[in-house]
Amino acid sequence: MVKITGFTINDVRFPTSLTGDGTDAMNTDCDYSSAYVTLLTESDLVGHGMTFTIGRGNDIVCMAIKEVANRLVGKETKELFSNMGKTWDYMMADPQLRWIGPEKGVIHMASGAVNNALWDMYARSRKKPLWKLVVDFTPEELVQSAAFRYISDAITKEEALAMLKEKEAGKKAREEKVRELGYPAYVTSAGWLGYTDEKVARLTKEAVAAGFNHFKMKVGADQANDLRRGKIIRSIIDDPQYLPAGSKPRDLTSEELRGKNAGPTGAVLMIDANQVWDVQQAIDYVTGLRDIKPWFIEEPTAPDDILGHAAIRNALKPYGIGVATGEHAHNRMVFKQLLQAEAIDVVQIDSCRLAGVSEVLSVLLMAAKFSVPVCPHAGGVGLCEYVIHLSLIDYIAVSGTMERNVLEFVDHLHEHFVTPCSINSRGRYNVPTNPDEGYSIEMHQSSIAEYEWPNGSYWVGAKARKV
Ligand SMILES: [Mg+2]
Repeated sequence: MVKITGFTINDVRFPTSLTGDGTDAMNTDCDYSSAYVTLLTESDLVGHGMTFTIGRGNDIVCMAIKEVANRLVGKETKELFSNMGKTWDYMMADPQLRWIGPEKGVIHMASGAVNNALWDMYARSRKKPLWKLVVDFTPEELVQSAAFRYISDAITKEEALAMLKEKEAGKKAREEKVRELGYPAYVTSAGWLGYTDEKVARLTKEAVAAGFNHFKMKVGADQANDLRRGKIIRSIIDDPQYLPAGSKPRDLTSEELRGKNAGPTGAVLMIDANQVWDVQQAIDYVTGLRDIKPWFIEEPTAPDDILGHAAIRNALKPYGIGVATGEHAHNRMVFKQLLQAEAIDVVQIDSCRLAGVSEVLSVLLMAAKFSVPVCPHAGGVGLCEYVIHLSLIDYIAVSGTMERNVLEFVDHLHEHFVTPCSINSRGRYNVPTNPDEGYSIEMHQSSIAEYEWPNGSYWVGAKARKV
């Protein structure tokens, strides 16, 4: 029996605003940040977790983490791990904290950080990476671990169980396949709004050479500008001369590319507006970008506007352009309604805006039932490290397919993690295999010491340079 005895919290901020990394039409000045928590026990077992912000306000999330983590102090890990769905319900049910949600905003993100830390601890205690812990669950254990409150009108526990049982027999073969091939990924780092045309062209060529064939570009600040940048990217990704040596254009009739507006080499372009438009504005603006043939427009409008997304999706259908959203969908009920209203073509869960692995599992189950692919959001710090685990769970145990899925990859800040994610020569995520890496989110102590805000060595130095 091992009890949780306490926790540490770190407000860690990286000065990404200096390089334009992470810039889009809405977020013009981001310092990628981590509200980072480590749960401690009587033994040397620990659990690391975090949620992601883009700078100011990270301290507010850290304060909320303290309140949520306090609920776990003194609890037996064995009891918490024995029913992670019940544990999740308990974490959400503080009769006073609930008022500053419920299940949304700062308190929910803080709950995500703590729930993720607990799942990290659980995986470490079983000497498995998190994805492996979950795919080795029986269907009953997996359903029991999910957050089911308020979603039974979309999927019942019995339906979820039947779905998972149907996938049981193929789990082993899928695990072997993905270990060998890796999980499909796409690149966002080439298309940040703050980059020059030259930088976009250079990064796009590098991404093609690295084996990627799905690319995302930020749009929404200026339509003519977006069209020009989109054509630059298209001119590179559609040109066979830039493909890696020895590789041929992909089969345009394959399931992998169906309905994705792929160009002649099989390259797919996605665009992301980060919520800048009203509904009609979104329709008009994206219609004007139809020549660059995007697969989908991501976050065209306010993230809570379910019917607005549905209207945009209907209006763009004639151009073969879909709608994706989810990085700001603050709980499973938003995803439930997006699916029920047929408002989206792609579910983009965020690993720490949702309140941790338990709530993610419930969204994976709903998406599988509605046959909508899950392509997690990972533009940020630590998110790529997290989401490979979630996509592996989706593929191996839940949806059983990765053919049409692509997992976002952003090549920033991985060096701060003890077990960073990595990409293979096919442009796919490698499968995490270290039995001690848990949810892969442990940060180097040296990175925390350097970037902790406001007293880490980097920030103290920055202040001195300003003076
Ligand atoms: Mg986005």
